[in-house]
Amino acid sequence: MPVTDRPAPVAAVIGSPVGHSLSPVIHRAAFAAAGLDWSYVAFDVAAGRADEALAAMRVLGIAGYSVTTPHKEQVAAGVDELAESAAALDSVNTVVAGGDGRLIGHSTDGDGFVASLEAEGVGVTGLRIVVLGAGGAARSVVSALGRAGAADIAVVNRTPGRVGAIVALAGTAHAADDAATAVAAATLVVNATSVGFGTDDIPLDPAWLRPEHLVADLVYHPLETALLRAAAAAGARTFDGLGMLIHQAALQQRLWTGNDPDVAAMRAAAERELARRAGEV
Ligand code: NAP
Repeated sequence: MPVTDRPAPVAAVIGSPVGHSLSPVIHRAAFAAAGLDWSYVAFDVAAGRADEALAAMRVLGIAGYSVTTPHKEQVAAGVDELAESAAALDSVNTVVAGGDGRLIGHSTDGDGFVASLEAEGVGVTGLRIVVLGAGGAARSVVSALGRAGAADIAVVNRTPGRVGAIVALAGTAHAADDAATAVAAATLVVNATSVGFGTDDIPLDPAWLRPEHLVADLVYHPLETALLRAAAAAGARTFDGLGMLIHQAALQQRLWTGNDPDVAAMRAAAERELARRAGEV
């Protein structure tokens, strides 16, 4: 290679544990589909050492990080600048190394959820929504739904004391008085709890679901959760958790490369990997 050639860019996911992350499969599919000579690797970074991972990014010239548990808050405190999406949450899932050496933190999870619905022809502006859950995923989704113009966001959580902090993230969000009434009043129902992850548990009474409902589950293991099966049986339209995962990664691709990635290729790669892990292929 001539000495004037610049090395191919490197991006990575940092987290712990990180071995089961789908990010390498999804991002490598995007780079390959775009014909971009980028590498994407997974680094297991122990809790509390995110600052060192950011220092390594500067020293090694790594172009971008995806950030997962347990580093999202420490990375938010360690970058040079926060984009609006991350500032609202004090949580970062994406780091972009600017040309001037500055590290910019973004949060693409919630915007990825909104983009996944838009890709299916569902706009959230003016929509009445109920969000189940008040953890990290619910925070990013409520914040993004508020910024995207949702008319009403009712939040329900097993531990009601956690709801106050989340409804402060969006002007149209409020604590639901009662889950059944909130679901009846909503068009879009979002499961942002971990109920259904690896089980057949369901986070609401299926009898509340109607054909008019749009039902989105953020859980993607299994891809077709008991909630989505119940929603389909009720005649409702369903959206699985892979939509958010793929679209938050697509937003990362745009931030790092400036290109619109091939979302279908990213999703196909993720589905193949999930099937492989389930022993289906
Ligand atoms: P988290 O911060 O641990 O929050 C978990 C939430 O689930 C809390 O609201 C918790 O309620 C609730 N919960 C847990 N067990 C429950 C139960 N038995 N009954 C009722 N509520 C229960 O987790 P997270 O990071 O927000 O993630 C939530 C889910 O979203 C996970 O399954 C995760 O895999 C998924 N996720 C998907 C994507 C995607 O791209 N599709 C992205 C992020 C997360 P309490 O407050 O009462 O504990």
